[in-house]
Amino acid sequence: MRSLKDLDLKNKTVFLRVDLNVPLEKETGRIRDDTRIQAVLPTLNYLIDQQAKIVAASHLGRPSGKFNPQLSLKPVANRLRELLSTKVILAPDVIGNQVEKLKRELNQGDILLLENLRFYPGEKANDPTFAQALASNIEAYVNDAFGACHRAHASIVGLPQLVAQKGAGFLLEKEIRNLEKLIHQPEKPFVAILGGAKVADKIPIIKNLLTKASAMLIGGGMAYTFFLALGHEVGSSLVDQESLSVCRELLNFAQQNKVELLLPVDHLVAPSLQDIQEILVVEDFPFPPQMRGLDIGPQTRELYAQKIKSARTIFWNGPMGVFEVPEFAQGTMVIAQAIASAQAFSVIGGGDSVAAVTQAGVTGQISHISTGGGASLEYLAYETLPGLEALKEKSNEK
Ligand code: AMP
Repeated sequence: MRSLKDLDLKNKTVFLRVDLNVPLEKETGRIRDDTRIQAVLPTLNYLIDQQAKIVAASHLGRPSGKFNPQLSLKPVANRLRELLSTKVILAPDVIGNQVEKLKRELNQGDILLLENLRFYPGEKANDPTFAQALASNIEAYVNDAFGACHRAHASIVGLPQLVAQKGAGFLLEKEIRNLEKLIHQPEKPFVAILGGAKVADKIPIIKNLLTKASAMLIGGGMAYTFFLALGHEVGSSLVDQESLSVCRELLNFAQQNKVELLLPVDHLVAPSLQDIQEILVVEDFPFPPQMRGLDIGPQTRELYAQKIKSARTIFWNGPMGVFEVPEFAQGTMVIAQAIASAQAFSVIGGGDSVAAVTQAGVTGQISHISTGGGASLEYLAYETLPGLEALKEKSNEK
């Protein structure tokens, strides 16, 4: 895979795929958090310095293949104008004659921001005709949209196959460099912490990380499927019946390969998220039938924090409990704090875990916070992504 720096971009019309899928305020349409815009500025500035003619493109929200003015990239174009001294033109469309004219008229170092790629169903369908239209008048392709690289969409997979010169932007390179450190000879002990609701989503990553990690700490709703798989009665806790046998396989695999797979030793339980006056700390099964596990308990917090503090490499995805409700947020906060104070290379992926470290005020103490939750999970599960494969000149290339 080539880097942006290996490409000859001077005076070339370059298609830059970025992930500017920023959260917008419902009422005003204002950008709530511009992290994703800030994250691609190094690549944009480099392309400006190289005097490339930049055609930038992103998706935003879920317009379901139709034009939707509420999901226009207009606020993003405005924010780019504030952050860059170069000219930023917002195209009226994604493809078509008007857009082609703007591409041809683009000056060196200027940016033409296309409208939301997902206004066309061809984007998600990786439709070859749509990819051809995106490739029109394009001489080089740069992918800096790490957060979208797990999607085999037209702008990620179809388009680069039509462009001779292609490479990875600085953000994409940085993300891969950091994630690679976790899977290629991580410094031990390597502690992986996985939480969240749905175990089924996390099975591929658990499987792969069990071959790399020294210990895996499980929390959140998904712990209860593991407990059920071990024959415990978990009351009304969240369980995924379809994943019981794979959970048993994972427990066996960990035991055979001497990876510590830890489950919570105590729990905060309540009949529902609203019944906070009835919260109990329980250590043993069976849970009363109406009770559900909603956070890890105090002993588990202590146990997991100790494991984390002795780690040299850490990966975390997924909250330890329903952290959106303050009464069930403590487990997640303790994990965030423990990772921040560990003398380790630490990587956090996934919106909820990123929100938790922000809430805990410890973002500065984390080695790498990934800009793509889904993409980082998929990379750690399969060690490649569709968007990375599409950047390779030959299928056996690194
Ligand atoms: P995921 O997208 O699978 O990482 O799940 C994140 C969600 O899991 C968050 O919204 C949490 O509220 C939820 N969650 C965490 N722990 C539990 C639990 N014990 N029971 C139900 N939901 C949970």
